[in-house]
Amino acid sequence: MTVTKTISTFHGGLKLKGNKQLSTGTAITAAAVVSQYIIPLQQHIGAISESLVSIGEHVLKGQMIAKPGSTISAAVHAPVSGTITAIDRQPVPHVSGLPDYCITIDNDFKDKWVKTQPLAEDYNNHTSRDLRQLLRDAGIVGLGGATFPSDIKETEMDTHTLILNGVECEPYITCDDMLMRERAQQVLAGADIIGHIIKAHECIVAIENNKPEAIKAMQAVIDADGTGFFRLQVIPTLYPSGGEKQLIKIITGKEVPSGHFPGELDVLCHNVATAYAIYQAIYEARPLISRIMTVTGHGIQQPQNIEVLIGTPMKDCIEQCGGYINDNCELIMGGPMMGLTLQSDHLPVIKATNCLLIRPCTEAADTKTHLPCIRCGKCVEVCPVRLLPQQLYWYTSCKNMERVKNHHLFDCIECGCCAYVCPSDIPLVQYYRFAKTEIRHKQQQRIASDTARQHHEAHQQRLERQKQEREQRLRKKREMLAARNKNTDSNNKEAITDAIARAKAKKAEREQAATKQPVKQ
Ligand code: SF4
Ligand code: SF4
Repeated sequence: MTVTKTISTFHGGLKLKGNKQLSTGTAITAAAVVSQYIIPLQQHIGAISESLVSIGEHVLKGQMIAKPGSTISAAVHAPVSGTITAIDRQPVPHVSGLPDYCITIDNDFKDKWVKTQPLAEDYNNHTSRDLRQLLRDAGIVGLGGATFPSDIKETEMDTHTLILNGVECEPYITCDDMLMRERAQQVLAGADIIGHIIKAHECIVAIENNKPEAIKAMQAVIDADGTGFFRLQVIPTLYPSGGEKQLIKIITGKEVPSGHFPGELDVLCHNVATAYAIYQAIYEARPLISRIMTVTGHGIQQPQNIEVLIGTPMKDCIEQCGGYINDNCELIMGGPMMGLTLQSDHLPVIKATNCLLIRPCTEAADTKTHLPCIRCGKCVEVCPVRLLPQQLYWYTSCKNMERVKNHHLFDCIECGCCAYVCPSDIPLVQYYRFAKTEIRHKQQQRIASDTARQHHEAHQQRLERQKQEREQRLRKKREMLAARNKNTDSNNKEAITDAIARAKAKKAEREQAATKQPVKQ
C-alpha cells in the first residue's frame, strides 16, 4: 500500500488557543534529584507489574524492580540507586482517585547504574523478535498518552508505513515540540529502529504547522539522512489531529473502521517521545526511567520543560518551576482537553505524565452546575469520531448502558471537543468516562459470575460423575460376589453329591464284603 502525499482531514475538530509559547522559552532542564521516589506498578495499559524486590533490598539505577504481569504489561525500573523502603498502596494519579501498589526507593545519591550492554548500530543484525524483547525488558510504553506496551504494538507482521506522531495538538503541552527541537537525531534514530522491527518501507513524520522550529530541526536530520526512508509531513493545526485514527485519516485519507486496528491499513503510529525512549533503550541500554514533561499554565511561576525521573513527587517538580502563583490553582495531569484533574500534588510522576498544567481557579470551568441539553447539535458538529454526543449523554443520564454501547461509546476518544462547545456547560466527557467504567465493571461482574457458574456446574458434573463411577464400581463388585457365590454353591453341591456317592459306595463295599465272609463251623 502506498501513502499518497496529499493530505486529508477528519470530521469536526476545533481550532484552539495553543498557549504553547508559555513553556518554550527555555531549553529542557534536568529535574532536581530528590531523596525518595515512589514508583507505581500500574503505569501502562494491561496487567499490573509484579514486584521483583523486597523491603530493605538495595537496588541499582536502571535495575528491573517489577516484571510484566502478563503478555500485555510492562516492566518497571529503579530510577535511582538506593534502598526499597516500602511496597504498599500509595496515592497515584489515576482517574479512580484510589491508591494503588507502589515501590518506594530511598535515594542513596550514589547514582550507581546496573550493568548494561547497549546494542547501538548493531541492532540491524538483530531480529524483530529479539528487539521486541529488548523493548519489553526496558519497560517501553507509548508516551503520547496511551501507555500501551510498545513491544506488543510492534506487530509480528510487516507494516508498510510508520507514522511518527509529532503533532502534539493539545494546548499548553510542548514536551514533544522541545524534544524534536533539541534531539531530532535521536528521535529519528528511534524511528529507524521501529522501522527495522516492523520492516516499514517508509516513515512519515507528522508535525503541526504551529511548530516551525521542530519542523526545521527534523527536516535537517531527514535531509542529512538521505536514505529516502523519512518524509516530513506538515499538517494544519487542528485539535485533535494527534489522535491515532485522526492522524491516519489526515495522512492516508483512510478511516480505521470502528473496532479495527491501524495495522489492518498497513500503518503503525508511534509518538516521537516513544521513539526517543526506544533510541535510549537500544543505543544506551537505558530503560524507561525518565521522560520529558511540560510544567506550564498561568498558575505556575516559571513554565518550562523538565526531564524528570519516573517516581519524582509532582510537588518537587512544581517547586523547581518556581511554585504556584497563589494557593487557589487547579492542577491537571495532561492538557486542558483530555487531562486528569488532580486533588493533590503529593503524587508521583508516571510514564504517562507528559504535562502538569496549573491554572488559576478562575480559568477553570465550573463543572458543578450545568444547564439542561437544548439539543443544539453543536457537539455533533465537532465530534471527530462522528458520534452523537448528546445521545450518549442522554442514555448515560438514564443509565441505559445498552443504548450507550450501541451508540459506539467505546469509539469516543475523550477528546473533549463536545464539552468545549456545549452551551449548557455539560461535562460530557465525565459522563462518558462514568459510562465506560460502569459497562466495564458490569462486564467484569458478568465474567466473574459466568466463571463462578461454570465452576459450580463443573463441580456438580464432577460430583455426578464420581457418584456414577462409585455406583458402577459397587454394581460390578456385587456381580462379582454373586458370580463367586454361585460358583461356590454349585461347587459345594457337587462336593456333597460326590461325598454322598463316595459314602454310598463305601457302604455298598462293606455290605458286599460282609456277605462274602465264610460261616464258622
Ligand atoms: S452541545 Fe450540549 S446542549 Fe447542544 S446538543 Fe450537545 S449536549 Fe446538548
Ligand atoms: S469526547 Fe467523545 S463524543 Fe465528545 S467529541 Fe470527543 S470523541 Fe466525540
